Amino acid sequence: MSDSGGIVFLVGAGPGDPGLITLRGLELLRTTDVVVYDALANPRLLREARSDAELICVGKRGGCHTMKQEEINALLVAKAREGKTVCRLKGGDPFVFGRGGEEALALAEAGIAFEVVPGITAGIAAPAYAGIPVTHRGLASSVAFVTGHEDPSKETSAIAWDKLATGAGTLVVYMGVKRLALIVDELVSHGLAPQTPAAVVQWGTMPGQRTATGTLADIARQAEGMEAPAVLIVGSVVGLRERLQWFEKRPLFGRCVLVTRSQAQASELSGRLEALGAEVMETPAIRIEPPPSFAPLDAAVARLPSYDWVVFTSVNGVDAFFSRLDASGRDARGVPGVAAIGPATAECLRSHGIRADCQPVKFTGADLVAALTAFGQLGGKRVLLPRAAGAPETVRKGLEEAGATVDEVEAYRTLLSRAVDEEVAQRLLEGRVDFVTFTSSSTVRGFAQALGRERLASVPASVRFVSIGPVTSQTARELGLPIAAEAEEHTIPGLVRAVLELAEAPCPR
Ligand code: SAH
Repeated sequence: MSDSGGIVFLVGAGPGDPGLITLRGLELLRTTDVVVYDALANPRLLREARSDAELICVGKRGGCHTMKQEEINALLVAKAREGKTVCRLKGGDPFVFGRGGEEALALAEAGIAFEVVPGITAGIAAPAYAGIPVTHRGLASSVAFVTGHEDPSKETSAIAWDKLATGAGTLVVYMGVKRLALIVDELVSHGLAPQTPAAVVQWGTMPGQRTATGTLADIARQAEGMEAPAVLIVGSVVGLRERLQWFEKRPLFGRCVLVTRSQAQASELSGRLEALGAEVMETPAIRIEPPPSFAPLDAAVARLPSYDWVVFTSVNGVDAFFSRLDASGRDARGVPGVAAIGPATAECLRSHGIRADCQPVKFTGADLVAALTAFGQLGGKRVLLPRAAGAPETVRKGLEEAGATVDEVEAYRTLLSRAVDEEVAQRLLEGRVDFVTFTSSSTVRGFAQALGRERLASVPASVRFVSIGPVTSQTARELGLPIAAEAEEHTIPGLVRAVLELAEAPCPR
């Protein structure tokens, strides 16, 4: 074995859904020096790689140069010889039609250390997400994984179709969509009943999953137009789909939702939408950055005891405040009365050891002012308001009108995006996005700016804009974006409910 410290991990990335990688696989993806991946590994997983990791695409799709197998083998050997740790990320399982065996042999031959991390293979996962168990008591006690890559009519075919036709309970054929008719002919001519249930699952476990079902006799017709990656499943287990279908039944399945929050904050919203079956595209319309100077916030922190209230209108404000408090050598014990605009802000405060004294029932700036006023007289009270420059003035004005003296200090900056991802723009313009979510006025402004006035005006009416609350909706309307729904509760769960209700309502299209 090499003693350079170099090692290659052949890691199964799973069939597509990024949640289906193993814990061991994810740990290696997060820690290795080099990640060598191909097209079938979900690009979302690559975000998990170390920020300084070298990412090398060797796959077929996604516009990258396709390397020959020998070149890939040589690359793995070379990187390991440099002393690097290499994660060779492969779709599904590396040893199931993945040429992982060849890569391992090349490594073994070169004396390079390697480990194999199995993954969930498409032949099990795609049927599972289509509601088809590959074995089932009483229906199928065996399953065969077959490649459909070879021409089945070829004299020299290595696949014993005659034996497979009647020899296995369930057949799962990979790489076979192009030759569907030929494969079916082969199976029927060798004795498999034409009425045998069959299904084709394309893009299994992904938001774009499509399933065609039928019998051997008509599956080629049912699956017409379906392309790789897809698996063919043949056997009576396919009949269970009628009762076991679940993935394609989730309420947002087949819907595409745009999330415009900053990258750092998008994941909660994206995760909730994905759990409901949506295809989520994150297009950060804003970026949260430190202010040009922390001096005003630092000065305010230094005179903290002189305030009666600190009022927080966002998680970002809370985080910035506490990081400066910490930097000043103080801690939360000096913090006076604390108000939070909503549950996420309050939760963030709690993570810093503070329970908000005051939180409105509704989560707008105006409600926050009302709640503080109801809490006690604001006349003569001193309020610290750590926020972003350019945030709506409702809160400051309201507090001042109630008689308070307000120190509004810049705690962070919200920068609007200049450009939008071209793929996202195209999908928007073609109406292949169902919902665009806005979680703040600045996300609306950033989205509008990034897309540009002209393209914004050409977004078809089928694309529906959903807002977290009245202030955000107002900003959207001012920029000419019609709001189709507004969250009743001005929180992320509230926003998700608004999307759900729209999705479930009869479609106006
Ligand atoms: N090692 C991979 C298989 C690679 S061969 C694994 O274990 O899954 C490529 C074939 O896998 C495709 O032609 C298709 O038949 C199948 N496949 C891969 N991902 C798929 C998916 N998400 N849905 C359906 N089939 C898929």
